[in-house]
Order: sequence, then C-alpha cells, then structure tokens
Amino acid sequence: MLLHTAQRLFDGRHWYADAWLELAGDRVADWGNGVPPDGEIVGEHVCVMPALIDAHCHVAGSAEPVTPVQIADPYEPQRGCLALLHEAGVGAIRDLGNHPEMITNLTRLPDTAPVLIRSAGAVLDEPPAQVAHCRLVTDAEQVRQAVRVAAEEGASWVKTFANLRPELVAAAVQAADRFGLRVAHRPGRTDALTAARLGVDTVEHLALCAPPRNRQSPAHRPAAEVLRDWAEPGVLENLAGTLAELAERRVRLVPLVLATRRAAVLDDAVGEPRLERLLNIAPIHRHLIDMRGAGLNLGRRFARNYLGYEHLRGKARSTVEQGWTTLLAALRDAYEAGVVLLPGSDAVGISLVPGYALHEELGLWDRAGIPRDAILRAATGQAAALLGIAGPKGRDPWTAGVLAVRKDPTVATNLPGVFADVRFLVPPTTTAAVEQRRTPLERAQ
Ligand SMILES: [Zn+2]
Repeated sequence: MLLHTAQRLFDGRHWYADAWLELAGDRVADWGNGVPPDGEIVGEHVCVMPALIDAHCHVAGSAEPVTPVQIADPYEPQRGCLALLHEAGVGAIRDLGNHPEMITNLTRLPDTAPVLIRSAGAVLDEPPAQVAHCRLVTDAEQVRQAVRVAAEEGASWVKTFANLRPELVAAAVQAADRFGLRVAHRPGRTDALTAARLGVDTVEHLALCAPPRNRQSPAHRPAAEVLRDWAEPGVLENLAGTLAELAERRVRLVPLVLATRRAAVLDDAVGEPRLERLLNIAPIHRHLIDMRGAGLNLGRRFARNYLGYEHLRGKARSTVEQGWTTLLAALRDAYEAGVVLLPGSDAVGISLVPGYALHEELGLWDRAGIPRDAILRAATGQAAALLGIAGPKGRDPWTAGVLAVRKDPTVATNLPGVFADVRFLVPPTTTAAVEQRRTPLERAQ
C-alpha cells in the first residue's frame, strides 16, 4: 500500500492532525491519524483534503461564441475550461446551463482533464429566450416533456430560469421528482421564497433573493442596478424571513457573490489578473484586456453597449459599494440563519476564470465573516453531497479527487492564494465522470 502523510488532513467533514491517507491503486482505501498502517510513504504534506467542487459553473458557456475560424480544435473552449478547473484543484462541478450536446460529446474527448460533471443541460424558461441554451415552455405539459427529454439526455439537474411562473416551477419540481432529477432555481418571476416553498433543491444568486423594489427581476437586469437595491434601507430585515425558510426547508443557497461583483463593476472585471487565460475559451475578454490602464476610458462605451456595464461615478458608484457591503452582510446572515451554502463561480461568465473564480468566491465568504471551517466543508463535503457523489452518509468524500495543499487553509491569511497553489494527489474518480456523461441510453447498452 502507498501512503501519504500530512500535518493536517480534512475529509470534507472532520480534521485530523498527524494524519495519513492510504491508497489502493488510484482510490483512497482509508485515512486516519496517529501511527499509519504498514506501507510505503510516498509523500509528506502540510495539508491533504478533498478536491474543490464548483456548485455552479458552465463549461465554456460564455455568452460570446467562439468564431470557428479562430481555432483549429472545435472543443478548445471546453478543453481549456476543464484544464483550468483541474489546474485550480476543482475535481467536480455542477454545470447549470449549457448545450446538452456539449456534455454528451465530452465523453468522447479522451484527453479531457478529469472533472466530474453533473449537468442541467438547457435551462427551462418561458419566452422570450434570454440565453442561447434554453428550452422554452408555455404550459405544465411542455415542462414535463422538457424534463423527460433532459433526463434522457443524461442531465441530473433541471434549472428553472427567470421568466418561469410559479405554476411552471411547480410542474418542473414534480416532473424532476418523477424522472429522478433535482431542481436549481434562478429567482425572477418566481422569487426565492416562492421557489423554496414549491420544493426546489437549490436557489442560485443571493443578489436576486431580495429585490425590494422589483421582485419580477428579468434575467439580464444590470448587476449594478441589482446591487443598488441592496443599498436601500431595511433589505436585511426583509431578507430574514426568506433565509429562515430556506434553512428550515433545507433548500441550499448558491450565493455567487463574485459573479455579481464582476458583472457590476467594470474596473474589477478589467482588473482580473488571469484574463489572458480566458482568451482561448471566451475571446471577448480580449476587449477587457485592451481596457487595462488608459484604455479603460475608451472602453467604457463598448462595455456599456455590449456587456451591460454602467459607467459608475459619484453617487452611483458609492451606492453600488454600499449595496455590495450589504450583500456580504446578507451572506453572513444566511450562514448564521443556518442556510446550507454552496460555493459556485458562474465561470465562464465575464471575467470569471474557471477554478480561480471559485477560489475568489471562497475568499469573499471569508471576508464576509463565515468561519474557515464552514467554508471548507461547503466547498467539499457539502457540495459532494449535493452532487450525490459522496456515497451514503458521506463515506466516500474523495470522489472528486485528493489535493495536496502547501499551507493550512484554516489559518493562512490569503485563502485564494492557498488554493492557487494546490496539486492533485489522486484525480477525480473518472469512471464516475465518464458514467455521468453518458446518456441513460448509452448506460443501458
Ligand atoms: Zn450561471
């Protein structure tokens, strides 16, 4: 048997000091602390923990398509996205909205970086279409049909989108139950509280959970406007009831606060240090790179016309910042109310680099005052339970892979920095990944 030892080991739920991890082939056989079992010690580490899980991302699902003439390999964006996730220590993702063909075809890419994918396929919405990868429905029967098709295509989630009325979200919950899928909801015409009462499994985007002025939030309402709503008096008081009910009903919340910030504040989007890494995945980022330094003034008009960025000056800017501060306070409130929080990045959105954006999201949770231990559990054990990959009672917390970490993430000052420097000791259980990406039809053969 091969053994790794670590000053600290985390298994997604518990911490161990002076710990060991025993491998049988490319699987974790056992782990514990104290005297290790017989075997050859092949690595000694500061910290060993399960790979990170991104509970909300889109494999190369950027709004901006890649022009085919730019690249020789039609799958380069997807490959690039998976490679970045792997590099950043992310071993599993929930892909919440994508072309269903993409997930199916990934199984046929032998050199794809191993990432375990749970997918929602196309998002379910009422007209008008707001994203390219959507399935439009107008009544409950069409909802049932769409969910059945998604199940046949290999989806394990349904994403109910911004225009769906409550009765159609209810139909989606029922159909998902029947076909063995789960439901992720993006608040809009059906708000977070209503969706929770209808029985969805997760609510996405904390920023959309308490729009005090306009509850019927359209999908592409500018993020700066959404943040300004959070600067209104009484927002946190109004949100308290929703949070209490999410906690009581065990509806998980995927806050996506970094994604909100990057969509609202152009300076932050342009300031992302890894923008170059997105060029082969979502080439539109070339324009953000051109805006660095003096280019920012020239670029503001492009950013407004094509990316929806408002030019934030004076009061408009300070109100957005005030709303941002309140949003982080709401994140802390959600934690304290007992809501199960799951980290997601919404990469590849604008200025959201796969993997690294998840690290930044975790850093913001840290800044919001959520305890480190809770952040780390959310990004590993709790997310694995959500994806259904942790086995009964979380007994197999290593399915997404095992990471060696050079600093103790419970005490290191810069959490994103800690995760930017990890490596996989054990890759994700790729047989599970391949199995997942096959359609039920293929599985039956
Ligand atoms: Zn998303």
